[in-house]
Amino acid sequence: APAETPQVVVNAHGLPYQNAKLPVKKRVADLLSRMSLAEKAGQMTQAERNALKTHGDIASYDLGSLLSGGGSVPTPNTPEAWAKMVDTYQLRAQATRYQIPLIYGVDAVHGHNNVIGSTIMPHNIGIGAGRDPRIAERTGAVTAKEVRATGIPWDFAPCLCVTRDERWGRSYEAFGEDPALVTAMETVIQGMQGARNGKDLDRGDKVLTSAKHFVGDGGTEFGSSSTGSYTIDQGVTKVTREELEAVHLAPFAEAVKRGAGTVMPSYSSLDIIGDDAGPVKMHAHAEMINGVLKDRMGFDGFVISDWQAIDQIPGDYPSDVRTSVNAGLDMIMVPTHYQEFTRTLKDEVTSGRISEARVDDAVSRILTQKFKLGLFEKPYADTGNLDEVGSAEHRAVAREAVARSQVLLKNDGAVLPLKKSQKVYVAGSNADDLGNQAGGWTISWQGSSGEITTGTTILEGMKRAAPDATIDYSKDASAATDGYDVGVVVVGETPYAEGIGDVGNGHDLELTAADKAAVDKVCAAMKCAVLVVSGRPQLIGDRLDGIDALVASWLPGTEGDGVADVLYGTRPFTGQLPVTWPKSEAQLPINVGDAAYDPQFPYGWGLTTLGRTPGGGELTLKAVSLAAKVLQAAGQGRSEQARELVGKARLIVQQKIGGKITEASAKPFAEADHLLLTGDPAGAVAKLTAAYRAG
Ligand code: BGC
Repeated sequence: APAETPQVVVNAHGLPYQNAKLPVKKRVADLLSRMSLAEKAGQMTQAERNALKTHGDIASYDLGSLLSGGGSVPTPNTPEAWAKMVDTYQLRAQATRYQIPLIYGVDAVHGHNNVIGSTIMPHNIGIGAGRDPRIAERTGAVTAKEVRATGIPWDFAPCLCVTRDERWGRSYEAFGEDPALVTAMETVIQGMQGARNGKDLDRGDKVLTSAKHFVGDGGTEFGSSSTGSYTIDQGVTKVTREELEAVHLAPFAEAVKRGAGTVMPSYSSLDIIGDDAGPVKMHAHAEMINGVLKDRMGFDGFVISDWQAIDQIPGDYPSDVRTSVNAGLDMIMVPTHYQEFTRTLKDEVTSGRISEARVDDAVSRILTQKFKLGLFEKPYADTGNLDEVGSAEHRAVAREAVARSQVLLKNDGAVLPLKKSQKVYVAGSNADDLGNQAGGWTISWQGSSGEITTGTTILEGMKRAAPDATIDYSKDASAATDGYDVGVVVVGETPYAEGIGDVGNGHDLELTAADKAAVDKVCAAMKCAVLVVSGRPQLIGDRLDGIDALVASWLPGTEGDGVADVLYGTRPFTGQLPVTWPKSEAQLPINVGDAAYDPQFPYGWGLTTLGRTPGGGELTLKAVSLAAKVLQAAGQGRSEQARELVGKARLIVQQKIGGKITEASAKPFAEADHLLLTGDPAGAVAKLTAAYRAG
């Protein structure tokens, strides 16, 4: 805490709300009963820290919350400076009449990603590919620890979008295209928050989560947008009620059960087929927020708007404020015009257009979380934990998550894993670029290429894994290519966070001309493995024929070592596609379960290098006994193990048919895996067994 920090003395005024021994409910009721309308309006306001005219405005406007938007970082951008910065704002909040602490929020969507030196996790699409709820939970726990160490108690994560069209620029923030997969990864909420009832939130290593973006952000139609442009981000999601429930709402129902403390509505609009309402902005959607989220699902945390999102509601500003608050929003991420917002909110209440009861409900929800977080007792950073940021232990968790996220799409002639004796030629735009492999929301909002923080690139990881090997690198493959045993070409996207995605590379899923040229040159000269570092599938098309091994590496973050681990076989490939990999852009949108489904690689696809298997003859018998084990494991709730067995079964087939898996032989695995995720183990076994009998 800063030097001038006054000690917060519990029970300083002897007021009941300051007594940590009282139940939270009582404390909230006591404090609320003392507050003026201005103080209540302040609690419902979240300003961007850079927008503050003076630090004194925190107390003058009784602000409830501040955030650092993407890239809003202190100088120098160190963990210590973050803690100091947040403490400085907290100190100002102590000057309010009731010393109500701020709740500070950041987007730590893959580790504490604003901070140089933090552990950057794979983006969610990679976590989805890993399909391991325990890994998801552990990455969440590491993220929470690093965030809270810097004095920040609130994280605008996880994104629970179910991405239905990878042309959406935020596809990488989704765990996948299947709501069952997204739901399975929500263990991340426990990693971040701890116990479902919130009792761990004041422990000092946990943060409040924000399930976002409610609801349908991953379902926007290509070409539809309220602003008339072609971008798919913030557009219109047109769905039937059934699809809305099964695909987009299901992950939020799970988040509510898991006790997510806040929910953030989506910028997008919802157009329910069969209703005559037409597209309604989610920030104005009373039926969904009041009705479904709060009443039906029983969400008792608070709803935080997205960045300046209420301004997009048709009508003037007073109507934006009224409509959103009456629809059930509790706190508004204003984030710049906090003076205008608090004034307007007070006017709307005084004139009766927003009821005082609605305001009391919103403020109660906010205060409840502040009490649970222990902020009244301990508003400042516990700097004793600052060493945790980017620690070796945390990086080890990230490294494991990276290894688990790698999906082996093709492996002709068992090119992978590499042998340490091989002479390797490395090329491609993303082989040696930390910024590119981290993607958006890293140090800056949109992310950027180059050495933006501390970590290991894929090339560096390979050199560490095989220190005695000859590993030569030429980004554009312009060096001589003869005399090598194998080539590794790492291609893909440059960073982006929101919007159409792939800033600088065009908005489609095409590889750049330079990457295509590198692939063509290296793969013509030697056996080659191509790694795609990207937030979503990239179009490989017919080029696949000339590629021996293909890996979807997603956006692994700072631990390139994790990629090297699977490349050199220290860890097996076990990742599976969390989204369908299309052949062409014309196929989009394409999702598992579609009637005409003919992708390059189906949902769930992924070769495994897990263990050795006996060859030949006993295939059918073996398959049936495996199927029985799958059933048993899934039936006992050991779905992880069941999925591992599906992986083993796939390996048997792979070896039986000489390392080549065709689309037809791939299908049963994808389907079985899907059925396991959706809780139908018997169906999964039937699919597998039928496939083996046919084989
Ligand atoms: C994004 C949110 C994010 C917010 C605050 C918005 O642009 O849509 O996901 O939490 O900014 O940074």
